[in-house]
Amino acid sequence: MAQATPITVAYGDGIGPEIMQATLDIIQAAGASIAPQIIEIGEKVYTKGISAGIEPSAWDSLRSTKVFLKAPITTPQGGGFKSLNVTTRKVLGLYANVRPCVSYSPFIATKHPNMDVVIVRENEEDVYGGIEHRQTQQVTQCLKLISRPGSERIVRYAFEYALRHNRKKVTCFTKDNIMKITDGLFHRVFDEIGQEYPELEKEHWIVDIGAAKLADTPEAFDVIVLPNLYGDVLSDVAAQIAGSVGLAGSANIGDNYAMFEAIHGSAPRRAGQNLANPSGLLFGALLMLVHIGQPEVAQRVHNAWLTTIEDGVHTYDVYKDGVSKQKVGTKEFAQAVIARLGQTPRTLKAASYNTQPQSEPRKPRPAAAPEQKVTVGVDVFLDWTGSPDELGEKMKTITVPGLELYMITNRGTKVWPNGFPDTFCSDHWTCRYLGQNGKSIEHRQIVDLLGRVAAAGFDFIKTENLCTFNGKNGFAAAQGE
Ligand code: NAD
Repeated sequence: MAQATPITVAYGDGIGPEIMQATLDIIQAAGASIAPQIIEIGEKVYTKGISAGIEPSAWDSLRSTKVFLKAPITTPQGGGFKSLNVTTRKVLGLYANVRPCVSYSPFIATKHPNMDVVIVRENEEDVYGGIEHRQTQQVTQCLKLISRPGSERIVRYAFEYALRHNRKKVTCFTKDNIMKITDGLFHRVFDEIGQEYPELEKEHWIVDIGAAKLADTPEAFDVIVLPNLYGDVLSDVAAQIAGSVGLAGSANIGDNYAMFEAIHGSAPRRAGQNLANPSGLLFGALLMLVHIGQPEVAQRVHNAWLTTIEDGVHTYDVYKDGVSKQKVGTKEFAQAVIARLGQTPRTLKAASYNTQPQSEPRKPRPAAAPEQKVTVGVDVFLDWTGSPDELGEKMKTITVPGLELYMITNRGTKVWPNGFPDTFCSDHWTCRYLGQNGKSIEHRQIVDLLGRVAAAGFDFIKTENLCTFNGKNGFAAAQGE
């Protein structure tokens, strides 16, 4: 018999230890061939003064097993603590968050009896770099970064996932009608890579109306791929409308490592009472079993779980008079699932982990040649109080040879020249300088310009270079321009 697969396991806080024990009991009873290595994370570690919430030695286990089954932890209140989830994702390069959201009508109440959606969320980029600055008395900013390689790998992951799991359609959500450059890149990458998967249906929705459609008619979707922030919000919406956030598990996947968990937290008020529903973590563990090449065990557990739910054996959180037959605790629920191993559901659709034979992932096309980048201007951001015309008159006189003041904007809206008198202006201004007659400019000119801006007594807070790529503007126009 093949050797048991080593996995790293953390029991976590609150209800964590109970649901982890139940999960391990179930999958081991079903024949999972795993060798758990237990590590310490969460509250106990934080209170020792380790701000990352994970024992430094725990990384050794993770580095060797590369597979992490994690129970929820309690994040301590107050500053100075780092989110363990964010740290793990970043350190282990877990770029894809995968969350299946399925309804189990009529046994678990939902308005959407036919929902079966998988959310594939980009996990590393977007505003989650946490690159934030307060720039003036009035204005703060958060940097949203979307990269081509980051978008390519999550989009490709979503298409490959769809193929492997017999899915028919991949939908992309962005807000590229507003963020034409960042979300526009994500959408473009989706269109480009989508061409390599002619057998799959593809569509794109603007995230606002797409989210409304998802909340109203989730059965219209299959696999949805989306940037980090939209994915963060909509994956919880999708899990909730399927029936309960307590039932969903998720996988965080990288090239070398993977982490599996429930999507809910440590529910401290329910801890130690044998009340919690272990299903969310169990579904995380099923994703793990597929990942480590034991899909037949996942299928066995999944079908036993469906049968248990169908038989009306429910924990308090999904218990409903008239539908449920027996209210059970965590341990009894686990025993009920174990007792049904080998059975398949009668009403609910049986789970099939007959994933498509791992067709070789499609070879990414060779990277396009780098585009020709030319700097054609600079945006100089100022912390300043006054009227647009006053600022325009002053800034017109502050210049260097080859650069001229083109316009001034306030929070993205053009206010000089010829702004609308009604536009509200904060203390955050952007003065756009362009090379004369459309000519390119050099860094030296920007540095000279900043010297003059400072010498004239202005508080510049940052600059952004304005570049073209193969002649196409790599910067947004202003509203009202
Ligand atoms: P929570 O998910 O722990 O609980 C929300 C509600 O759902 C509560 O009413 C709880 O009783 C119920 N609930 C959650 N899981 C359940 C289960 N398995 N069975 C039955 N009922 C369940 O969210 P919260 O109360 O906002 O957060 C509690 C703690 O968990 C916080 O410290 C938070 O930071 C942490 N948290 C951790 C993770 C993680 O480790 N991945 C995720 C989210 C929250």
